[in-house]
Amino acid sequence: MRLTKIPQKFKEALPILKKIQEAGFEAYFVGGSVRDTLLGLEIHDIDIATSAYPAEIKQIFSKTVDTGIEHGTVMVLDHGIGYEITTFRTESTYQDYRRPDKVEFVRSLAEDLKRRDLTINALAMDSNGQIVDLFGGLSDLDAHIIRAVGIAQERFHEDALRMMRALRFSSQLDFKIEKQTLQAIVQNAPLLEKIAVERIHVEWIKLLKGKAPSQGLQAFIETKMYRYCPLLETKKQGLQTMLEMQPFSCQSDEQCWAYLSFCLNLTKQDTVELLRAWKCANETIQKTQKVIAFLQSLKTENVTKRLLFETGKDLISCANQLALQAGFGWKEEQLMTQYELLPLKNKKQLCLNGKDLMALGYQPGPSLGELLARVEQLVLDGQLKNNSRDLEAYAIEQLSMNERVK
Ligand code: ATP
Ligand code: MG
Repeated sequence: MRLTKIPQKFKEALPILKKIQEAGFEAYFVGGSVRDTLLGLEIHDIDIATSAYPAEIKQIFSKTVDTGIEHGTVMVLDHGIGYEITTFRTESTYQDYRRPDKVEFVRSLAEDLKRRDLTINALAMDSNGQIVDLFGGLSDLDAHIIRAVGIAQERFHEDALRMMRALRFSSQLDFKIEKQTLQAIVQNAPLLEKIAVERIHVEWIKLLKGKAPSQGLQAFIETKMYRYCPLLETKKQGLQTMLEMQPFSCQSDEQCWAYLSFCLNLTKQDTVELLRAWKCANETIQKTQKVIAFLQSLKTENVTKRLLFETGKDLISCANQLALQAGFGWKEEQLMTQYELLPLKNKKQLCLNGKDLMALGYQPGPSLGELLARVEQLVLDGQLKNNSRDLEAYAIEQLSMNERVK
């Protein structure tokens, strides 16, 4: 098959391919960019594979960066864009189910494609738009099928992350996982425990943000993969609840985690523990907690000004999307109107700060923070107007009251 309409991003990279070819080597576009182009999707990053060894690539191009030279990857800088060029390689004898013991550079494209995870990811395209399809990737793309390259059982045994990738692509593309591939996932699921949590995390989030998470979630439950993910071992019921809430694609990381926590019916403490176990960033943990607190207030119809203020516009909307899906959401405009009516949208907007208070004679310390918090609440409740004159007058009054008490 030959692609006649080559996307602009590939066109821009064509001179790189041609230069490698002129030096006597083979070069192809490979992996995700080829897959996504054939599906008519937007492409983000372009990967190039070549028969040239890294040292040879560095001789061909003047501007290169050794981004992953031990794995055969050199970045070539061209018109302000960095292109990752990776030497064809084979991987052999995986002993720990996650990393090949030996990466060997080879001159054959076929050998390189053979070590890739899924048939739809094992396609290559040359500079004429000709597609190299050695494992039936094109027909799987047509039939919307996720299938391991070669013998699924062996491929997952070599690298257990591939199972999680299979689930995530089935969600991202709304593809079905082929029977033998699915069976091999069932058989090898326990090996997922060998994989670094950070890598499972990436695939899990991509799964939940995919366009058809039910595909991935269903397989996640059916194959019992969840049992080998941090703190999910006993959570089949909750995961089933997630599935029942489908269709729902998450828009952000915090929405993914709030969705999980909500369906698992976790306490605040347990949510933090879960997110820590999945190695989430502190910022994600904090945002997730806010989303969950807001979700709870939507459910109990107890949305206060303080909560609106502390949650902020984006996370309010994030929580409400989840609530709508769960059946207790509010009209988005209604919530946004309430938010817009707040006299304060964030802490920085308060027309009084610590410095102002010290200029008025306050001593630094906890009481200063307490006063600011009180002023913030009074402004939020509409009892004080948010302007320096009124707020300072209030602070002066408080100061003289304190002195009188003393
Ligand atoms: P995305 O759109 O998410 O970037 P992608 O297919 O480009 O999708 P990458 O993780 O960027 O995914 O990997 C690039 C390519 O490398 C894949 O298309 C696949 O051919 C190969 N690959 C990635 N991870 C593995 C793996 N664990 N085992 C085998 N091949 C892999
Ligand atoms: Mg990619």
